[in-house]
Amino acid sequence: PAYKTPSRTHRSRDCFARSSDVIPSGVNSTARAVWSGWDPYPLFVDRGTGSRLFDIDGNEYIDYLLGLGPMILGHRPQKVTQAVVDFIQNRGTVFAMPAADEIALSEKIVAAVPAIEQVRLCNTGTEAVLYAVRLARAFTGRKKLIRFEGMYHGFSDGVYWSKHPTLETAGPDKTPKAVPQGPGMPAGLDGSLIILPWNDVEALRDAIAREGHNIAAVITEAVMCNTGCILPEPGYLEAMRELTAKAGIILICDEVITGFRLSLAGAQGYYGLEPDLSTFAKGLGGGFPVAALGGRKNIMALVADGTVSMAGTYSANGIAVAAANATLDHLVTPGIYDTLYERCQKLVDGLSKVIADNQMPAYVTAVGPVMQLWFADKPIRHYRDAARHARHDVFRTWWEEMLDRGVLFHPGAFENLFVSFAHTDDDIAQTVAIAGEAMRAVKAKH
Ligand code: PMP
Repeated sequence: PAYKTPSRTHRSRDCFARSSDVIPSGVNSTARAVWSGWDPYPLFVDRGTGSRLFDIDGNEYIDYLLGLGPMILGHRPQKVTQAVVDFIQNRGTVFAMPAADEIALSEKIVAAVPAIEQVRLCNTGTEAVLYAVRLARAFTGRKKLIRFEGMYHGFSDGVYWSKHPTLETAGPDKTPKAVPQGPGMPAGLDGSLIILPWNDVEALRDAIAREGHNIAAVITEAVMCNTGCILPEPGYLEAMRELTAKAGIILICDEVITGFRLSLAGAQGYYGLEPDLSTFAKGLGGGFPVAALGGRKNIMALVADGTVSMAGTYSANGIAVAAANATLDHLVTPGIYDTLYERCQKLVDGLSKVIADNQMPAYVTAVGPVMQLWFADKPIRHYRDAARHARHDVFRTWWEEMLDRGVLFHPGAFENLFVSFAHTDDDIAQTVAIAGEAMRAVKAKH
């Protein structure tokens, strides 16, 4: 594949050699590192426009990585760019005093997401989650947090556990051990975590029966997007809502990926879930760093009276707020999610046909613009299924063959393909045609 043919990506290769000298691992996020799949070196980007990305060697890609999610409107969406430029040129960036633009943005979020009565802005998903969990502990006076194996809720100490643990270290299937992402965590944090398998009502019921009175919150994505794309089984989210409500446990819906993407009201809108607290980032800012923690007024009251502090020099900075206002102004356009879903269905159908035509043991899981292609011969309901059944080697070949032909997505089998509002029917048709060729090559190699 071209990726391994330095003649086509030699500038990226050279950049990586330079960057590795001054940047640990040559990149500024683990998800871009060699060990996350960008092997033997990450592609260095020149620019993006709409659904397209160009690397510094001039190769063009149809982009389904979308910056890991933020580029929900595609790259350089005119209205967002203009709003940010206008703000910077005419107003400034950071004031440490409120600006009326924040009110407009918060009103839009409250209008878009029924479960949100009040919302505080911050900069990243990691921050929003950190605040959500702290707020839940303060509100309930309880200590423990339930989080699910295979999910990711940012890199703060309290939640950076059990994302993709090796099964040998991770304890029993129904009662997994808390496994830190690595060394350096403060001692004792595992005592405040309960790790559970997702999509398993009994495991949740048992945990709550055992120690519900100690459990402050359950944090979950409504679709597991950090182990490929795993959909909630019918009734699971409803059961989760009922069990947590009965036990006085705060339900935190982490919508950092799904927010404003699965619907204007996020995954909770799509599935009819009413969480107590919700976290948003990525899609909200159309490519600019902005995040939000929203929820019921009686819980946010602890933020309102200063009991729980939410600080941040850059929180609700002018760039973030301008970008998010412009993004949401676009997302309220009537009918655009319907069109997006129809377009995504064409991609899912096309990929499924390519799989069937080649008689590959593979399938696509998707909810609207979030999807993954699994090379597996068994259904995947939670992290351990994925760890046991997903074929990373075949996925790797698939990724290389697609990239070689100009279709970009993350090299990790546990990541997602994202479709933006800028992708066209032509992009989808082209992708499906390329997938046909790529899958034949995959079949020949495995
Ligand atoms: N929660 C979820 C569900 C995420 O997917 C991510 C990032 N991929 C985060 C939180 C952390 O967000 P950020 O990278 O903006 O800190």
